[in-house]
Amino acid sequence: MRMTEALVPTLRSVPAEAEIISHQLLLRAGFIRKNAAGIYSYLPFAKRVLDKIEKIIREEMNKAGGQEVLLPIIQPAELWLETGRWHVYGQEMFRVKDRHNRDFCLGPTHEEIITDLVRGEVSSYRQLPLLLYQIQNKYRDEKRPRFGLMRGREFIMKDLYSFDRDEEGMEVSYRKMYQAYTNIFSRCGLTFRAVEADSGAIGGNESHEFMVLAENGEATIVYCGDCDYAANVEIAPCEPAGDEGVVETERKEREKVYTPDCRTINEVADYLKVSPQKCIKTLVYQADDQLIMVLIRGDRAINEVKVQKVHPCNTLELASEEKIKELTGAGAGFVGPVGIKGIPIYADLEIEKLVNGVCGANQEQYHFLNVNPQVDFQVTGFYDLRFAEAGEPCPKCGQPLQQARGIEVGQVFKLGTKYSAALNAKYLDEKGQERLIYMGCYGIGVSRTMASAVEQNNDEHGIIWPKAIAPYHVVIIPISAKDEGHMAKAEELYNKLTELGIEVVLDDRNERPGVKFKDADLIGFPIRITIGRKTVEEDLVEYKLRTEKEHEEIPFNEVPEKIKEFLER
Ligand code: ATP
Ligand code: MG
Repeated sequence: MRMTEALVPTLRSVPAEAEIISHQLLLRAGFIRKNAAGIYSYLPFAKRVLDKIEKIIREEMNKAGGQEVLLPIIQPAELWLETGRWHVYGQEMFRVKDRHNRDFCLGPTHEEIITDLVRGEVSSYRQLPLLLYQIQNKYRDEKRPRFGLMRGREFIMKDLYSFDRDEEGMEVSYRKMYQAYTNIFSRCGLTFRAVEADSGAIGGNESHEFMVLAENGEATIVYCGDCDYAANVEIAPCEPAGDEGVVETERKEREKVYTPDCRTINEVADYLKVSPQKCIKTLVYQADDQLIMVLIRGDRAINEVKVQKVHPCNTLELASEEKIKELTGAGAGFVGPVGIKGIPIYADLEIEKLVNGVCGANQEQYHFLNVNPQVDFQVTGFYDLRFAEAGEPCPKCGQPLQQARGIEVGQVFKLGTKYSAALNAKYLDEKGQERLIYMGCYGIGVSRTMASAVEQNNDEHGIIWPKAIAPYHVVIIPISAKDEGHMAKAEELYNKLTELGIEVVLDDRNERPGVKFKDADLIGFPIRITIGRKTVEEDLVEYKLRTEKEHEEIPFNEVPEKIKEFLER
């Protein structure tokens, strides 16, 4: 490819809307352009990267026994009504109507469609196991589309579904996919970690997420340095901490105190000169159409995934100010559990141990001192409702946990019979008995993987593509496009490398060398070859790796060998 013919519109300035580095760099390096919130066009260089990631995925899926299919993006509502997910999916689902006013959605995922296919075509144990996958656009009307390709509303996903005779079969498929995912992300050149995960709305009973480790990751994981334990903080189990300092032994009488304008835990703690650990953070949630109250220690954050385990619901959102006032008589900030009746009140395990705590008095500008659970208020139950933090004991071996941020690039689920039962997907076993098919589902965010690779591999000058997924391997930069000698050598090398099947770009633009070097770094070609006076006079070129600071001078003729050796390493 010649740079004069390529569509790689690089930008000098950082686009204002891009908050994280991968988003900035993919825009600046001319890989993507935005069409609407969470909706992007992939330009030619991005398409090449996506193709390479998809090629790796296809190879590993096929190796694990997967067969590729292509299912419709537009899906009829009937199937989603059969599993009950038409209503569960809520606002994240893009819904459309046809000319006859019939309901459809743009596929956010494909359990319904694929199970419908399999129930129609599979009838005997001889046809199982079956592993079917596809790579295509998915549609989710995310509440907060952001970070460019990281959280799009249209994005590319690989999704595989496994169909097995029984639970053991499902285990085997699950392990195959786990291994395939490990191979895929390793081959893409990413630093990642598989962690135990929540199975969320998809359902099922065991799940792992594959997390690319990056500071800007939306997910937080905890892992043990001593054993193999690693989990998303959403599900990592927590024991109540000891914190002897906050545990008094003698219960005191409850007392109402004036706390003007103290709305946050820190304001209350400062004003009353108590530690935040003694404060009870009280939040009112709207769980579907019911209000619930959740209590947690003031220095902790409520883990909504755990709340939803205790109180199953489709949507869990903070209640409106209006509803909070109606329930408690006070605005958020002055709310507490004392005197609240008629709704479930869930408290974290640490609240149970609290003696003489502080909470909102359900009256504007007032809090209670010396509040004691079971004396001053009753709860529906005490549960683990918080996030695990660094330094806490590993649930497996007791050693202190470490914490990191991650980007979820893939997730694997054991679904069991959730979908086969809902959609009546059965087969006849060896004895002629009808049985439900056991399923698993396995997703990879292909476009998110591209963004994650950038998030993890960059410097102040631009992207540093891992060589397996770089759009091109090599850029040749003639110092002067006007100099016939430079251009002749550059063309000669370009032709030679192209013949050898090396993916190469010739920067034949009539630009200053500085501009071409800047773009080469920004775009992130793994290898840069510079051709100039020394090439013409001494037969030497500059050979530079994107990962290295310095270049080497090597003989013109040795370039192909040197590149091949690097690419095969
Ligand atoms: P998240 O928790 O990030 O919303 P999810 O659990 O909803 O992800 P899955 O349904 O498991 O995601 O989808 C499989 C994969 O698709 C994810 O691991 C992720 O890599 C990718 N993915 C999911 N949502 C998006 C999105 N909005 N934009 C880009 N990629 C996405
Ligand atoms: Mg999601």
